[in-house]
Amino acid sequence: MRILLICILAITMQAMAATPQAAPAATTEAPIASLSPDLDVDKVKVKQGEFIYATVKNSQSEPKLWYGGIEYKMFKVEKDGQSFYRAILPVENLCKPGGYAVLAKVGESWQERIDIKVDDNKKPVSKIWLDPSKSDLEATDKELKAVYNSLHTISTNKMWDGKFVYPSKAPKSSPFGVKRSYNGGPVDSYHKGLDFAANTGAPVLAPAPGKVLMCGYEKDGFVVHGNSVVMDHGQGITTIYMHLNKIDVKEGDILKTGDKIGEVGHTGISTGPHLHWGLYLYGTSTDPEGLVSKELD
Ligand SMILES: [Zn+2]
Repeated sequence: MRILLICILAITMQAMAATPQAAPAATTEAPIASLSPDLDVDKVKVKQGEFIYATVKNSQSEPKLWYGGIEYKMFKVEKDGQSFYRAILPVENLCKPGGYAVLAKVGESWQERIDIKVDDNKKPVSKIWLDPSKSDLEATDKELKAVYNSLHTISTNKMWDGKFVYPSKAPKSSPFGVKRSYNGGPVDSYHKGLDFAANTGAPVLAPAPGKVLMCGYEKDGFVVHGNSVVMDHGQGITTIYMHLNKIDVKEGDILKTGDKIGEVGHTGISTGPHLHWGLYLYGTSTDPEGLVSKELD
């Protein structure tokens, strides 16, 4: 036995001595090639109306990703000489609280699942009574289509950089997510944005770099939204500005943070002058406070 061990040792040492240059290359290359993809999320407990920042590292190709059974496109992020894939997943404001999962797959050989717990955000429910004869509250097909299409835009180019800033310097008046029940019915809608109590004529500023996707005018049928602008910030993030008195941009304009979009007003269905600011992730309304408080790659 001892002779055998000595022989093996001798052969091994001989082999190492014969190929002194090859050895270091083999030891540094092998572990990198064998790293498997790795799914991560910024939190596993989340509230309705918030979002989940999901990443996949060590993947040579774009992973497939699902949250709550819905597939979301991932985008490649290059940072500090490293790259990974990322998706910012919306947690719908009226989704049922409970257990969900983020699932990622690369090809047929790798998949990983992380369980997520969604809590009720306990936003108050406002009971709204509408006169059924008031049919003039309905949005036109034209504005619904234009707003829907622009808010569901998923462009590949990332235009935002770091945190978003508030589009108005006025005090906030109504938060995102307040749930609504109409005429005693179930809670089936909510406030899809953050309101600012600004006066008519107060400036509305771009919260982050982006491209103007839509300018809608009350005179052209935007009877509910009023004069409105939608911006695309790239990779599934869009924002909307409603009830404007004046629009200072046109479709296709590229804006930087702080550029003037327009002025506050009370066009469309609005009880008084204010700015309604909505944030959409992959077309789903999400609390804008999330992007103002957190720097995202
Ligand atoms: Zn509002």
